[in-house]
Amino acid sequence: MGYSTRIKNLACRVILGRHFVARGPGEREAIAITFDDGPHPQHTPALLDLLESHGARGTFFLIGEFAQARPDIVRRMVAAGHEIGNHSMRHQAFASMATERQIAEIAEAERVLAGFDGRDSHWFRPPQGRVTPRMLLELGRRRHSLAMWSLDSFDYRGHGVETILRRFESRRVAPGEVVLFHDDNACTVEALAKLLPAWRERGFAFPTLSELVSGDGPLGEKT
Ligand SMILES: [Zn+2]
Repeated sequence: MGYSTRIKNLACRVILGRHFVARGPGEREAIAITFDDGPHPQHTPALLDLLESHGARGTFFLIGEFAQARPDIVRRMVAAGHEIGNHSMRHQAFASMATERQIAEIAEAERVLAGFDGRDSHWFRPPQGRVTPRMLLELGRRRHSLAMWSLDSFDYRGHGVETILRRFESRRVAPGEVVLFHDDNACTVEALAKLLPAWRERGFAFPTLSELVSGDGPLGEKT
């Protein structure tokens, strides 16, 4: 975790308390694999195939208008036991938006997501991971839970599969971590085809974010 991520996560924890998560308890061999910016018409289904072939569950922070446009993919996610989260309705420049607009964007996406899984509340992850003190206070007032991450794959930088794999060599994943990916590109799918079996070999299970945080879900298979 970089210095700025630590500071940001600390500020979120101070303001939101138990309504904030960036990692789960570390006593179980489990990690949450999370994806932002989908669903994508090609890459998300390919990723779902991959996750399912490894018995892994993902948590997908969906852009509301993309979920509306590609409902079959979201239905498939929910049916397969993956978790869906809120990544705003339109993924606009969130930090420079008036707080009222931010809240409206979150609420609109909440309604879309509820139409798929029937849940009345979903983890929110802000576009670009940007948070402002006012947004945090407003989320806290509404008891809306915020989910960030502890380990960033940097897949959005577009430097290719090998660069993503090297990232996880230099910064090994640890129990309880929440790992950030994006399901809008082929490199992430290709990198995870290598990472998932390697992590499984280390004994990790891949529950959803809510399962990781609550301690529920599948246990790691010890080898
Ligand atoms: Zn995003």
